[in-house]
This record gives sequence, structure tokens and C-alpha cells, in this order.
Amino acid sequence: MHTAVDGARVPIRMWADPQSVEDQAMRQLHNVANLPWVHGVAVMPDVHYGKGATVGSVIAMRDAVSPAAVGVDIGCGMSAVRTSLTASDLPDDLGKLRKRIESAVPVGFGLHRTPVNPAKVHGVGGWDAFWKAFGDLHEGVQDLHDRAARQIGSLGGGNHFIEVCLEQGGPDEGRVWLMLHSGSRNIGKELAERHMAVARKLPHNADLPDRDLAVFVAGTPEMQAYRRDLFWAQDYAARNRATMVALVKQAVKDTVPGVTFDDVISCHHNYVAEETYDGVDLLVTRKGAIRAGSGDLGIIPGSMGTGSYIVRGLGNDASFQSASHGAGRRMSRNRAKKMFTADDLAAQTAGVECRKDSGVVDEIPAAYKDIDSVIAAQTDLVEVVAHLKQVICVKG
Ligand code: 5GP
Ligand code: MN
Ligand code: MN
Repeated sequence: MHTAVDGARVPIRMWADPQSVEDQAMRQLHNVANLPWVHGVAVMPDVHYGKGATVGSVIAMRDAVSPAAVGVDIGCGMSAVRTSLTASDLPDDLGKLRKRIESAVPVGFGLHRTPVNPAKVHGVGGWDAFWKAFGDLHEGVQDLHDRAARQIGSLGGGNHFIEVCLEQGGPDEGRVWLMLHSGSRNIGKELAERHMAVARKLPHNADLPDRDLAVFVAGTPEMQAYRRDLFWAQDYAARNRATMVALVKQAVKDTVPGVTFDDVISCHHNYVAEETYDGVDLLVTRKGAIRAGSGDLGIIPGSMGTGSYIVRGLGNDASFQSASHGAGRRMSRNRAKKMFTADDLAAQTAGVECRKDSGVVDEIPAAYKDIDSVIAAQTDLVEVVAHLKQVICVKG
């Protein structure tokens, strides 16, 4: 259930305790609620400060969109697939399966040449039209084109991850799931940053309390250019994840022949969608939020040592049919590095086959909010389909 906090033009609907939201995040929400184009703001229980606009929020605007409210990793999101396996089908040595996944999918920042020809990846069609659409992209096309082609099917760094998980409780206890978190690599980021720089200079953004929140408005060439690149990058991110799902599936097949897979669930959590509420056409921006329309399947991950959830949307219009995208950060990466050691990380990821070195201490479970409380705070937005716990986590 939510609490409504007064905003200048619209109420700020919060699925988090307003007292628990950091001051600077609250300030960002008030900035958004004061935009002339704003139609509604919904705040998810995983909310925290982000550049220009909070992570864990949904902004619905009439005829306008703010690139900062999408996030730099355009199309970042999750994919998950249920397998026919149960825990006992997995090899005793999970380290081997982890290595197989790590060699199938390039991980980490930086340029990669993925070992697949995307056009040949099973289940991801329409590549010709997709690459042709590149011709219409923002200037600098050839460079972006080359990088996009080279990086498709690679994970990226930070908290992007690939996991092998076991279902917890219920009739399907022990069922093996695969999931992964990634976006448009640095292609979407580069496009996003170019457009943000353009938006910041537009005269209608001159009086904003935070220039990072600059918006594009309908009917302008800048909006047109942004939309074209935005929707392309969202498509690229979906294809990137689909390609990796195919690679991870193959790694699992090589380990356990005969495995079969259900349909893949995939959801963006940094993106824009055109949706209509009460007859009003809106640009709905979800930055750290997923769509939770009635019956929609979604994925809400916790951290590298806690559970994750597969959820089904309840179609609640109050949140613009949205839900949280994760547990959300409790503290910055820098603070986590100061507070915790590699030993703490090892303790908090006991039983998980994953990196436990100081290089990923900023990803320690304690740096994130409690996923179970985050799920409990949104029972009017989603219902739980499956509770998962990872046994392997490959970090970017
Ligand atoms: P973001 O998209 O904001 O970067 O992160 C999405 C969410 O993923 C975070 O809020 C956090 O709850 C979750 N998360 C981060 N790292 C991991 C991980 O290694 N495994 C799982 N299952 N969840 C994670
Ligand atoms: Mn993400
Ligand atoms: Mn991302």
C-alpha cells in the first residue's frame, strides 16, 4: 500500500516509508513532481538517489520525457528462464559450471568480441531489420555500429550478473532457474549521455532546480532524435539479453544434456513506454522499476547472496502498473567498500559459487535493502510466482 506525499503539481505516491527515504532522493522526487509536464509520480520500495532522478521510481508525463529519468543504461533489465532440472541434476562441482558460463559469455567492462553470430542465435529473430535501423541513428553511427555488433551477447560490469538459482519452497522446491541482469552496454550509455547534454542546453529547461533533470518535449527535433535512439537502445538491450540467455542455456546443456527450458521471461527496468491511463496518453519512464500490468511476469532480484523473486503484475493503476526492480541500494559503493571486507563478503555469500574478492565488496548483500521487506511493501502491485536463491553468481 502507498502513502501520498504532497508534491507541487501532483502527489508523490510512495510504496516506501517516506521517513526512510534519504533527503537528497526526496528532493529529487519533489523536483520531478514540479515539472510542468508531470502527470504522476510513483515511488517503489527500492527507491534511492540517482543522477538527476531517483532509482526506483516511475514518472508519467504528458508530451515530455527526461533522459535522466530513464537512466544511463537504457534498456537495462532482467531475463529469467525456468529449466526442467532440479537441484540434484546439477553437478557436485558447481565451479565447473560457473567456469563454463564465464567462458560462454564475456563479462566485465570493456570491449568484447562475442563468440556468436547473433543472427544465428536461436530464438532471436529480425536481426536484419534491426541492423538496418542503425542507418537512422544519431551521428557517429559507424563507430557505434561496430561496437554494438561486437558487444552483443556480453554482460558488462558492475552489478550485472548471471545466476543459477534454486526455487525455494512450494510444489516446485529445488527447481533450477537461470537469470541474468544486463542492458545496452556502453552503447545505450553513450547515446543517453549525448542526448542529456543536448537537453541541458534547451531554453525550456533553464529554470529547472536540477539541470540533470532536463526534458525533451513532443514536437521538437531533439525529442524525435532522442526517441529514435532510445527505442533502438531498448531493442538492443533486449537482444543483448536474449543472446546471452541462449549462450547460458547452451552452457547448461553442455553440462546436463537433455535439459529443456520454459519460455524466457524478460523485463526492462530502465526504459520508457507509451501507455494510456484514464484516456490520457503518457510517456511512462521506469528507472529502476518494472512494468507490472495484470498478468505480466517480472523479475525482482535481491543481491548476490540473498533471494530473488519472479512476480506477476496485478495491474495497479496507482503505480502506473509498475513494481520495484530489485532490493535497491542501501548505501553507495564507496561506503560499502569502507564498511566491509572480503571476509564479510565471503560470510554473506556462503553457499554461493561466486567471486569473493575485494573487487566486488561494493556488491555485498548488506549494501542492498532487505529484499523480503521490499516484496512485502508491494503486495498491491505484484504477487509472488517463485522465490529463488542463487547457487552460482557470475558478476560482471
Ligand atoms: P540496478 O539495475 O539498479 O543496477 O540493480 C538492480 C538490482 O539488482 C539491485 O537493486 C539489487 O537488488 C539486485 N542485485 C544486484 N546485484 C545482484 C546479484 O548479484 N544477484 C542478484 N540476484 N541480485 C542483485
Ligand atoms: Mn539494472
Ligand atoms: Mn545496467
